[in-house]
Amino acid sequence: MKAAHPRDGVLVDRYDRVARDLRVSLTDKCNLRCTYCMPAEGLPWLAGPELLTDDEIVRLVGVAVRRLGVTEVRFTGGEPLIRPGLVGIVAAVAALDPRPRISLTTNGIGLDRLAPALRAAGLDRVNVSLDTLDPDRFTELTRRPRLDAVLAGMAGAAAAGLTPVKINSVLMRGVNDDEAPALLRFALAHGYELRFIEQMPLDAQHGWDRAAMVTADEILASLRREFDLRTDPAERGSAPAETWLVDGGPARVGVIASVTRPFCGDCDRTRLTADGQVRACLFATEESDLRGALRAGADDEDLADRWRRAMWGKRAGHGIDDPTFLQPARPMSAIGG
Ligand code: SAM
Ligand code: SF4
Repeated sequence: MKAAHPRDGVLVDRYDRVARDLRVSLTDKCNLRCTYCMPAEGLPWLAGPELLTDDEIVRLVGVAVRRLGVTEVRFTGGEPLIRPGLVGIVAAVAALDPRPRISLTTNGIGLDRLAPALRAAGLDRVNVSLDTLDPDRFTELTRRPRLDAVLAGMAGAAAAGLTPVKINSVLMRGVNDDEAPALLRFALAHGYELRFIEQMPLDAQHGWDRAAMVTADEILASLRREFDLRTDPAERGSAPAETWLVDGGPARVGVIASVTRPFCGDCDRTRLTADGQVRACLFATEESDLRGALRAGADDEDLADRWRRAMWGKRAGHGIDDPTFLQPARPMSAIGG
């Protein structure tokens, strides 16, 4: 007989993985148009009433933290800094008992201005996305001339104590794949932690091409032309990034090789979209509607039970390399990266 999902306790799945890390998308909208993420014209955005309100987000995060054993909350999007209620949401989540660790993944635009308030509200750290240090390339890649704003955002985050500031970089062949060493030099000079992310099939345009993807091996080979990289002795746990000590350490560089070295077996993520759908995986093709239940008057235990059911059905792996792989209908920006 097939085991039934547990009626209480943590978010466990059929493969005994426990989800403790919640990614919450605060909006599907963005002020950049990164070519690997969104088309130039943007996307049909979620309508206002479809979005969870600030109170609804805090209520659902509270269910995850108090009833489901979630210990890490990461706000993302779209671009989370453009959500007007962000500081209040962070403050309310920081007031939960037990208090989760709270971080933010952002493109950094406006972060210099917002960092002190976010820090005061209880944000612990940030990940800022930066794929190139060349202003013209940045404009080509994101379709907006905002490199200076991103660099100022990172500096502001570090000054406000939102540390360690981590940088996420996606390399694309023929676009910025020659920049790995320069990005690492920049990160080392500023005390930021750099992680490269293999490009995944999550773009709205469905333009991802496995053969053209810059692989973890290529990124490491490119870095090794300038740096000595040694395996990091620190325990990786369920962290998606494999890390290396740079020139003897303590500085590190990471690679998130979701495609060529999938880490699904150790995944501890659960995701909530800006319109209140639970997703067990970035690549899930099913979602579980918590917004509808919440607005229909479900109590916290009912919401927790729905969330447990959604995670129980999590598949063993994303199957990108499987010939039957289907890209999810929602792009990364609407799921929350
Ligand atoms: N707008 C914020 C940002 O850019 O950091 C948060 C959302 S964004 C979707 C989160 C992360 O996903 C970014 O680091 C971005 O580079 C990455 N990303 C977006 N599309 C991707 C793709 N197709 N493959 C790999 N990473 C991607
Ligand atoms: Fe916006 Fe982030 Fe997507 Fe770039 S990767 S378009 S910054 S959501």
